[in-house]
Amino acid sequence: MSAQIIDGKKVAGELKLQIREDVENWVKAGNRRPFLKVLQVGTDPASTAYIGAKTRSCNEVGIDTDTTHLPDTVSAKELKSVIKSFNENDGIDGILVQLPLPSHLSSHDVIESIDHRKDVDGFHPMNVGRLAVDQPTFKSCTPAGIFELFKYYSIPTKGKHAVVVGASNIVGTPMSVMLSRESSTGKATTTICHKYTRDITVHTIAADILVVAAGQPNLIKAEMVKEGAVVIDVGINRVADETRERGYKLVGDCDFEGLKQKVSWITPVPGGVGPMTVAMLMKNTLLAAKKSIYPD
Ligand code: NAD
Repeated sequence: MSAQIIDGKKVAGELKLQIREDVENWVKAGNRRPFLKVLQVGTDPASTAYIGAKTRSCNEVGIDTDTTHLPDTVSAKELKSVIKSFNENDGIDGILVQLPLPSHLSSHDVIESIDHRKDVDGFHPMNVGRLAVDQPTFKSCTPAGIFELFKYYSIPTKGKHAVVVGASNIVGTPMSVMLSRESSTGKATTTICHKYTRDITVHTIAADILVVAAGQPNLIKAEMVKEGAVVIDVGINRVADETRERGYKLVGDCDFEGLKQKVSWITPVPGGVGPMTVAMLMKNTLLAAKKSIYPD
């Protein structure tokens, strides 16, 4: 078997065209253009690259944006007072604090200080909680983007055995919640693995749908998956590659070439989940501007 490739770049491109049209209709109807405020603490190059991709997407869909830079020595108090000023600014619809934060700052506290009505990443406990009880919410962008891919490619999740490797607050956990809810999105029987799982192969080999978000290059190999499974590789890892000018290449958490021979569908890295995450951020920012989730 040779897998069909899930082309996240193409699907995200189509989604962004639709979002662009929705933004223009919103503006034509007399509303202010949506505005996304990005906050970067420090100068981590990977964070800078992610913010660059988000800014380019905003430009593509007609959402205004700018980035406030704070030094990595900023105190929690100073950072929260900046966030408070964004919360109170009616010209800002969405607020995104680029993670990870320097180790002296608690991402929990910082995320919780964002007004949940502007939390377009969907990381605030209010939005995560609403996701878990099927209330309208800003869905965490990566799991929401994966569900858009399932929809686009007509990949059913209902009644399937889904296995999620990785249990972070931003990817693995909300993904497992969305997969497992019986009354809305996933309707799958869901297993979640993490670094304390004794033998992940016992679980991955049983998966009809395998979502991997561990941040470990080459973690999942062909012998660990079932023939015909659907594999979603969320991982983005930099590995040394001297043939490239920048000295590294991006790979996922799966052995793409090995798995391709065995599974039915697979996402590449790059060009799979990543572009979908950014597209869903655009969608959430438009929802925030329209006050669709939390009406006044
Ligand atoms: P994280 O470090 O916060 O969490 C990693 C999770 O994987 C943890 O639950 C940990 O227990 C688990 N884990 C680690 N090693 C494991 C192992 N050997 N076996 C089983 N579980 C293991 O990471 P995160 O923020 O969730 O990100 C995960 C990966 O996804 C990273 O590579 C990140 O860059 C990438 N990512 C991609 C996107 C995207 O849009 N494509 C978005 C967010 C994160």
